[in-house]
Amino acid sequence: MRPRPASALHRAALVDVLVPVALDQSYSYRVPAELDLKPGDLVRVPLGTREATGVVWADDVAVQPGLHNRLKDVAEKLDLPPLKPELRQFVDWVADYTLSPRGMVLRMALRMGEHLGPERIRIGVRLAGPAPPRMTAARARVLALLADGLVRAKGDAAREAGVSIGVIDGLVDEGTLEPLPLPLPPEPVARPPDPAHQVPDFSAAQQAAADALRESVERGGYGVTLLDGVTGSGKTEVYFEAVAAALRKGKQTLILMPEIALTAQFLDRFAERFGVCSAEWHSDVAPRLRARTWAGVAQREVSVVVGARSALFLPFADLGLIIVDEEHDAVYKQEDGVHYHARDMAVVRAHIGQIPIVLSSATPSVETEVNARRGRYRRLSLPERFGGQHLPAIEAIDLTREGPPRGRFIAPRLAEAVQIVLERKEQALLFLNRRGYAPLTLCRACGFRLACPNCDAWLVDHRFRRQLVCHHCGFAMPPPAACPKCEATGSFVACGPGVERLEEEVATLFPQARVLVLSSDLVATIERMREELKEIEQGNVDLIIGTQLVAKGHHFPKLNLVGIVDGDLGLANGDPRAAERTFQLLHQVAGRAGREEGRGYGYLQTHQPNHPVMKALIACDREAFYASEITAREAAGYPPFGRLASLVISAGDRPSAEGFARRLAASAPRSEAVRVLGPVEAPLAVVRGRHRFRLLMKSPRAFDLSAYLREWLAAAPKPKGDVRLEADIDPQSFL
Ligand SMILES: [Zn+2]
Ligand SMILES: [Zn+2]
Repeated sequence: MRPRPASALHRAALVDVLVPVALDQSYSYRVPAELDLKPGDLVRVPLGTREATGVVWADDVAVQPGLHNRLKDVAEKLDLPPLKPELRQFVDWVADYTLSPRGMVLRMALRMGEHLGPERIRIGVRLAGPAPPRMTAARARVLALLADGLVRAKGDAAREAGVSIGVIDGLVDEGTLEPLPLPLPPEPVARPPDPAHQVPDFSAAQQAAADALRESVERGGYGVTLLDGVTGSGKTEVYFEAVAAALRKGKQTLILMPEIALTAQFLDRFAERFGVCSAEWHSDVAPRLRARTWAGVAQREVSVVVGARSALFLPFADLGLIIVDEEHDAVYKQEDGVHYHARDMAVVRAHIGQIPIVLSSATPSVETEVNARRGRYRRLSLPERFGGQHLPAIEAIDLTREGPPRGRFIAPRLAEAVQIVLERKEQALLFLNRRGYAPLTLCRACGFRLACPNCDAWLVDHRFRRQLVCHHCGFAMPPPAACPKCEATGSFVACGPGVERLEEEVATLFPQARVLVLSSDLVATIERMREELKEIEQGNVDLIIGTQLVAKGHHFPKLNLVGIVDGDLGLANGDPRAAERTFQLLHQVAGRAGREEGRGYGYLQTHQPNHPVMKALIACDREAFYASEITAREAAGYPPFGRLASLVISAGDRPSAEGFARRLAASAPRSEAVRVLGPVEAPLAVVRGRHRFRLLMKSPRAFDLSAYLREWLAAAPKPKGDVRLEADIDPQSFL
């Protein structure tokens, strides 16, 4: 080995630090002599004019000799556990696959960062000086309490003496009491769950599935299991046995849920099984609790986290199991920032960490179903409903033949069925996946339609809020007094149904019924939503009118009838996943009925009773649906038989967007494997005042479409001015 030049010996070591901003590359920093840094360490580094929290991504870094002196020093090493190699590898993998800057992906792993402020200090008081010159009864009580010379928190002292905090503060001002900081008692984020707290009684099929899951956790190593069972078959209780096995092994578990607002019942069941609550991770968790949960996960104090998709990026110290509940749910795909699919990335994380993962669903995604059919995933089936209840029988109501009267949306046969259920003091649910009062408002005099000024979309009438709202950009305005085109007054009519309009109809048809409209825009907080769900559960509501929120894994014991008001919604647009989503949604909604008391009834109003999706639903024939959908996807080369990626180009004016989209398409590298379709104007041609064009790329399954796109975009013309380009691998939305 050649001797290194003397000057190098005096040089500080260098590290590469990745910072959570929209940049792909890491930056080199000098390591001050007193710091010992290794990959994964969290550090503060100067970044431009400010300081940022970053993560050491590589050590032993070399730069050209001239550059060394121009580098800045790492400012500080944070007293937090380092990010483990698996998580760093995962961040790199997700960035690479989704074509996102690595810094953006790291940001999801550091979501706690900026909130880790100094600990809040409690103030205590003790007796220190002479009695105050002016004595009152209240003051005397405080002095009597503190006569023992012990320190008490200010709030405790006030409460015990029965005085206000002001009395204590007054005595501090007089010098009678001495204030001093108290350490905060260390409250655990979540107490340790007890795997033996309450082991349930299982049916034979459930026991077999639970045993199989427990064994894969005990054995360890990567493997994907599809836990496949109809709504009400006890999937949750079964996978809890896998959680118990992980707990006994001292390993952590991550449970991903699609709609965290709807998890109150889940958390109760968790507490029943394990004796304590699990930690939660979602956007509604208060900043300080977030910071403590993040640290608790990193330090292994938290052993089970129930969270939304972002929980996938938590810094687990020793993750031993991942569960993805309702794995088919479209909410798992993040549609802004880093476009990633949390279910697919959870499988990647399990593979990197070499741990088992469980995907749970009553209506698996076509991708997962195909993987199970081909043996790539193990399938564990729970064929029956728990306690032997039946899935509701579904009857079709052909709207072309026996539809409701004009201006109404509930057909006579459905209304009659609801009436019977209400008379029996059971609950009914009317499902309509449309928020607001009406999807379209038009002028009776001239035909003018009220549209969003920023988007290619109609304004939705939200009558409860007295507003017309755009569901794409949030634009809202009060209903105009006169038609903007013909100036007629009182000429506007609502077209089509929304849940609010349905409520009006229900009030006329069933005036005695207690009605609740469950729609995401009508509840302000997760807490409020949980209260409303409790009301339904306890039977304080007779008739529920709901959007897709009600489809998500909630258990309503008294619900015995589900009426799907418009089964055709969602089938109409040119989206390759429309049939799958419609089937899953309607199947889940129908599965809400008859879960505890007796047999449930389902009614499906449709204009197309002969559509394969509708026929499969009516026949309760899941296999028929998958068979026809898998054949269609295979023929078209759609996922999972091929890969898709999309590029969305947008700009403030149409010619800029279209021009750039055409230049981009022309620059696509030639490849036998890839078909580049477009550019075409997006179905939602204008959003928030931006004109949109789409390119769709299609390739065989074995082809690395991410690598192809990365190479293409590196050499392609760069968007200029206000033109923006977004890449979406495995797109779920085609709007
Ligand atoms: Zn008009
Ligand atoms: Zn809009």
